[in-house]
Amino acid sequence: MKGSAVIVGAGIAGLAAAGSLTAGGWDVEVRERHAGLSTAGTLLGIWPKAWAALQRLGVTGGLDTVDVTSGEILRPDGRVMAALTLPEGSHGVARMSLLEALLAALPDGTVRWGIPVNSPAELADLRAGADVVVAADGVHSAVRAASLPGSRLRDAGVVAFRGVAPIESAGASETWGQGLIFGRASFPGGGSNWYAGVQARLAGDRGDEPLAILRRLYRDWHPAVHEVLGAITPEQIDRRRIEDLAPLASYVTGNTALVGDAAHAMAPHLGRGGCEALVDGLALADALLAASSVTEGLAQYDAARRRTTQRAVAGSRLMNRLTNQQQHPWLRDSLVAAAGRLAARRRPGPAATTPPGRTTP
Ligand SMILES: Cc1cc2nc3c(=O)[nH]c(=O)nc-3n(C[C@H](O)[C@H](O)[C@H](O)COP(=O)(O)OP(=O)(O)OC[C@H]3O[C@@H](n4cnc5c(N)ncnc54)[C@H](O)[C@@H]3O)c2cc1C
Repeated sequence: MKGSAVIVGAGIAGLAAAGSLTAGGWDVEVRERHAGLSTAGTLLGIWPKAWAALQRLGVTGGLDTVDVTSGEILRPDGRVMAALTLPEGSHGVARMSLLEALLAALPDGTVRWGIPVNSPAELADLRAGADVVVAADGVHSAVRAASLPGSRLRDAGVVAFRGVAPIESAGASETWGQGLIFGRASFPGGGSNWYAGVQARLAGDRGDEPLAILRRLYRDWHPAVHEVLGAITPEQIDRRRIEDLAPLASYVTGNTALVGDAAHAMAPHLGRGGCEALVDGLALADALLAASSVTEGLAQYDAARRRTTQRAVAGSRLMNRLTNQQQHPWLRDSLVAAAGRLAARRRPGPAATTPPGRTTP
């Protein structure tokens, strides 16, 4: 079927949904609260399914990518704990370039900038005026709050710091300590993507200067970490407390569908949130285009996406616990190293693998 949709939010999920619905002949308007694309975020690991979604949207051609398929998990002193691999066909892309490519694929004027949708009254108007409303407004979704008042965000107990350092990286690595992780990889076009996952109780207050906190916390770590922390300035650091969303009973309410973080915000530990947001956008359009009514299409979308994405939320939560495990870090490290050795024996060639799904967010 064909129809009209208003999408709230011009992030990865909203732009992917807009691209696929527009391609299917729908009349689409995106309302974004900001005056332009969000500049937050650095490198995104894009898994093969999400890359296939981008190919379907026709946006991979001009994207600059880096290899994220192999790297190492290190101990704070720099010794290798295990190899770090992502499935073949995964790519690292700059979030900003991805958003620009998704936007460029839309007809001019599809996105209306600087128009937030916040109140239940505004939402009711949108619902009355369009066949479908798509909530793509991220982890703190106002549309979700208005439509599903029982939904609940959970504090993951971790603060993520991230940025791009003006130095090059030879390969990807992630270092695991007690309540601390630090990742480093190449950034498309030059520089190093870096991120630090810090247990909230160690991360200071919002007002504290982030670089001073990081330099203090990682002072005894290996030189590749110091090199990054010596090359960045405080204003280049993005800092955010991580939350995930308790599982929703449905991603659909009336003629409103939730996609991306609005539906299934997850901790970044598997690097899957943006990937699932892309796949949601296409799955929603596929379901609506194949259905004979909005109700049928939205039910198909919910059936196609809810279970898979809620498994990713649970997996990310588990990974968060594992990396933050403080009581027996030696046990965790031994298990990870053993898993890597086992995987290396099973797989031909020099590469080992890591616990399932680990990536370089
Ligand atoms: C540290 C970190 C690392 C990560 N690494 C990876 C990775 O490697 N791979 C991966 O796949 N994912 C990763 N993620 C997850 C990924 O960033 C998110 O899952 C993804 O951005 C979700 O996209 P979205 O479009 O649903 O939401 P968002 O990106 O949050 O976009 C929501 C949009 O809606 C707009 N908006 C919000 N409220 C309103 C409103 N009321 N009215 C109108 N507009 C509104 C916002 O301005 C924004 O443009 C990471 C996340 C973090 C925090």
